[in-house]
Amino acid sequence: MTDSITLRRPDDWHLHLRDGAMLAAVTPYSASFGRAIIMPNLIPPVVTGDQAAAYRDRILAALPGGAALQPQMTLYLTDTTDPVDVVASHRDGIIRAVKLYPAGATTNSASGVTDFDRVRPVLEAMAEAGIPLCVHGEVTDPEVDIFDREAVFIDRVLDPIRRKTPGLRVVMEHITTSDGVDYARSGGDDLGATITTHHLVINRNHILAGGIRPHYYCLPVAKRETHRIALRKAATSGEGRFFLGTDSAPHPDRAKLQPCGCAGCFTAPNTMSILAHIFEEDGALDRLEAFASLNGATFYGLPPNQDRIRLTRRDTAAAYPATIQAGDETVTVFDPGFPLYWHLEDA
Ligand SMILES: [Zn+2]
Repeated sequence: MTDSITLRRPDDWHLHLRDGAMLAAVTPYSASFGRAIIMPNLIPPVVTGDQAAAYRDRILAALPGGAALQPQMTLYLTDTTDPVDVVASHRDGIIRAVKLYPAGATTNSASGVTDFDRVRPVLEAMAEAGIPLCVHGEVTDPEVDIFDREAVFIDRVLDPIRRKTPGLRVVMEHITTSDGVDYARSGGDDLGATITTHHLVINRNHILAGGIRPHYYCLPVAKRETHRIALRKAATSGEGRFFLGTDSAPHPDRAKLQPCGCAGCFTAPNTMSILAHIFEEDGALDRLEAFASLNGATFYGLPPNQDRIRLTRRDTAAAYPATIQAGDETVTVFDPGFPLYWHLEDA
């Protein structure tokens, strides 16, 4: 039995660090990742290169000394995004990608795109400059059942965008269905997909059966078990198109434990222990490095991190806090529901 593995330092290709006291509290939990794509859905959202540069400075200030993390900034695509600013910000090394939220799809997404024809010049400029588009792939049409929103988005929005914009590099963020897995596999090198830690662990029963569990509520919402299994197979396959994007998304408990609670799971503190558990369970520990440390870098045209981390399986479970404090707020850490014997040694 393997009880110790080393990997290239992993990257997190989808991460929410928020701002203010929450930023200060949660950022250290991602400090041992090499690079992280930082989501721009602040209030107000990060929509210009100048705002992205200022946000990056706030993140760097929140990192502990010696942290590995290099924030990779994104812009929030709106109906009025300026293609010139996008291309210049990318050329100057301020941003790594642009994020597409359909208006109203998730936390702080009210500024999202309402009309895809209006953003066509931006998408064409991005295709030309090789700037990836990170896509929250859910329709927001109230007529579409929430469990079908990813599959419908692929047909109604994503596939048409890709057909109309040849050469556009697209990341399907946090896929949750076998439809998403299949569509990602139908693309070439210009199409990738991130998979979260929590979607490899929970299905919709975890949220809804035997009482409602707000800490497992996330968007896209977890689907039925067959979809979770499809995600597990994709993540552990080693295929280059699938890579880790935790979508670690802290919210104060006060905001989650409400009649209308927020969506998001805070997985930054224990992600690597959970992933090691899952990959071992699926007989794929040798492919964890591809998923967490290699495939995403290749998609983004970056070298893998040069240094390494070590995970060791011990007889005693790794101790992670059940909650952390962010100023006056309490944030609950994602509970996978099983003990974590894999310890992250070299943070
Ligand atoms: Zn997200």
